[in-house]
Amino acid sequence: MDELELKRAAELISDSGSVLLLGHQYPDGDAIGSVLALAIALAGGGRTVMAGWPEPFDPPPKYRFLPGQELLSRPEEIRPADLAVTLDCSNPERLADLSGHALECGALINIDHHPDNSRFGTVNLVDEKASATAEIVYRAAGDLGLSLNGDSALCLYTGIVTDTGRFQFTNTTARTLRIASEIVSKGVEPNYVFESVYQSDRLEYIRLTGQVMIEAVYDPELELVYGWLRQSDLERFAVNMNETEDLIDELRALKGHRVVALFKELPDGVVRVSLRSRADTDIGVVARRFGGGGHRVAAGYTSELRSIDEAIEELKG
Ligand code: AMP
Ligand code: MN
Ligand code: MN
Repeated sequence: MDELELKRAAELISDSGSVLLLGHQYPDGDAIGSVLALAIALAGGGRTVMAGWPEPFDPPPKYRFLPGQELLSRPEEIRPADLAVTLDCSNPERLADLSGHALECGALINIDHHPDNSRFGTVNLVDEKASATAEIVYRAAGDLGLSLNGDSALCLYTGIVTDTGRFQFTNTTARTLRIASEIVSKGVEPNYVFESVYQSDRLEYIRLTGQVMIEAVYDPELELVYGWLRQSDLERFAVNMNETEDLIDELRALKGHRVVALFKELPDGVVRVSLRSRADTDIGVVARRFGGGGHRVAAGYTSELRSIDEAIEELKG
């Protein structure tokens, strides 16, 4: 990370009375963990903090164990502050309706690890080699004048665990493991995080995954495995969309696949497409072609076609 950028970020933080912390829409463990960790650290330092992400506000229930949630505000309560800090957002569009509030703040610190980050901040703490935004927050905390306690360390550890697929995806580095080791030596218990995040599904959700697995299709020519989730499936199994973040990972177990796609129908009919690939295939390029973005092996976009069947054909194109 650039020393000068770090210094400028530290100055912005010390000069600001109020700070607005924002994660991306449909926040994952990294976005939620990074927002909460910074909220806990800044509030603990006596700063006025507002924190959150765009609609739909309710985060995946498996992250309810994370501390600091009393510091969150719903999207309609979010207001511009002296300083905005965006977390895990490659561009302002990832903040949907809240992007205006972020850009209206006196200054903006952009903390992120996406390779397609548009460097939209006054200061950009962007490191595409970092496994997670939480890893950058952990490394920068001291230089930013912030001290991490057990609660903020737990949030950051959770961000790292979830973005690295429990230290197994290609973004896992020696540094990632060193940081995880440091956090664990501070008292965070890996098994507590594992049980909270990965052994907390409702039976309804497990049954829904069964249905998605049964319908999944493998296209041997494209070496593509794909599945879909309709609003009617969610209703039938009484599952909320925010419980389905890890569903795509189930399909990654298939031998011989190169790319995995999961098509999710949103309430307004628009289709969210999640993509995953093996290390030798850059799926971020594909997501960008369809107006989305992401990493080399994990990316996504929103198809405007309003039909899962058409979105499948568009991708296979
Ligand atoms: P997801 O499949 O939603 O878990 O997203 C996987 C990755 O792609 C994450 O790194 C997201 O930040 C990124 N991503 C997903 N959707 C979009 C989008 N519409 N625009 C830009 N990046 C996206
Ligand atoms: Mn994310
Ligand atoms: Mn991330």
